Amino acid sequence: MSTFKPINRILMGPGPANVHPKVLEALSKPTLGHLDPQFIELMEEIKLLLRYTFKTENKHTFVLSAPGSLGMESCLVNMIEPGDKVVVCVGGFFANRMVQIVEKIGGQAIVVKETWGRAVDPQKLDDALSENPETKVAAFVHAETSTGALSNIKVLSEIAHKHNALVVADVVTSLGAAEVLVDEWNLDAVYSCSQKGLACVAGMSPVSFSDNAVERIKSRKTPIKSWFNDLSLLESYWFGEGKRAYHHTAPANQYYGLQEALRILKDEGIENAWRRHKENSAKLIKRLKDELNLEPIVPAGERIPHLLAITVPAGVDEAKIRNELLTKHNLEIGAGLGELAGKVWRIGLMGYNSNEKLVDYCVNSFKDVLNKK
Ligand SMILES: *Cc1c(COP(=O)(O)O)cnc(C)c1O
Repeated sequence: MSTFKPINRILMGPGPANVHPKVLEALSKPTLGHLDPQFIELMEEIKLLLRYTFKTENKHTFVLSAPGSLGMESCLVNMIEPGDKVVVCVGGFFANRMVQIVEKIGGQAIVVKETWGRAVDPQKLDDALSENPETKVAAFVHAETSTGALSNIKVLSEIAHKHNALVVADVVTSLGAAEVLVDEWNLDAVYSCSQKGLACVAGMSPVSFSDNAVERIKSRKTPIKSWFNDLSLLESYWFGEGKRAYHHTAPANQYYGLQEALRILKDEGIENAWRRHKENSAKLIKRLKDELNLEPIVPAGERIPHLLAITVPAGVDEAKIRNELLTKHNLEIGAGLGELAGKVWRIGLMGYNSNEKLVDYCVNSFKDVLNKK
């Protein structure tokens, strides 16, 4: 058996994105035990860096050792008790996953349907909450990666709070790449991932809970039906005063990577990172339109800057083109999911990959496989 040598792909799909070389370097530092004093210091620094990244003062800001989907499950299972009414705004695949989780944990999901490829219409949320005044939680996705649509969660959150519902918001694809202001927008429970805007390896889910969310979780009438996700148990590892209790074996090297990724983002300045993502994606959209006549399915003003869903032109074999990009140009892009399967390509310029060189590379590769000069 020879050692495994992965191809150095250009990952311009919906995630994972390429990992920053400095993060890859950080991953290979010597492993520490999960209760080593030096490791506890690292956890403290990650907490501070995450507060910066989420734009929050929330004490309960930390990392789950699992992908973004567990962040979703964690937020929902802590915030919702069996029988609770939960309004979920659904305009894509990932919001639909929220509905599945709400139902699995015994919540009563009320679905606000939005057209795939459009931002959630705030009026629809307002109407659903007026019809269901006893709703405990409103849940929505900021950047719906399956469609490329970015919803105005500042407004959605205002509406939820007006109706006395707390907010669970998915910022998996937005964090680090597009503006996310947890405190200013009053988001009560948010989760993200490590492998998209943060340019780190997959497998970590940054989360943040507001004081109101924590109060709600602490005053649950029924115990949470999950061991791993139970906030009070996680707290003893992440926040135990003076002494930390073992909860699970934290993947130490992954945390080194995350710390490095967050530090790089802070050094750049998160506002600068948001701007960089916007500018590079605007260039990509313009060139795809001008040079290849390819158009985003999402109307201008509702697009995730750094994750585009592009309409596959009539008569073009979606999978064949994607496969040629991979085999001929070493370039991975994403296929459509759910309702958009076969209809769109999804192109990400996320984190380390949001740069002009890759805009060029992407446009030129598309020109080649679509036989356009
Ligand atoms: C990627 C993604 C998830 C799931 O994250 P994983 O790390 O794949 O588990 C959830 N929500 C959105 C919006 C995503 O884009």
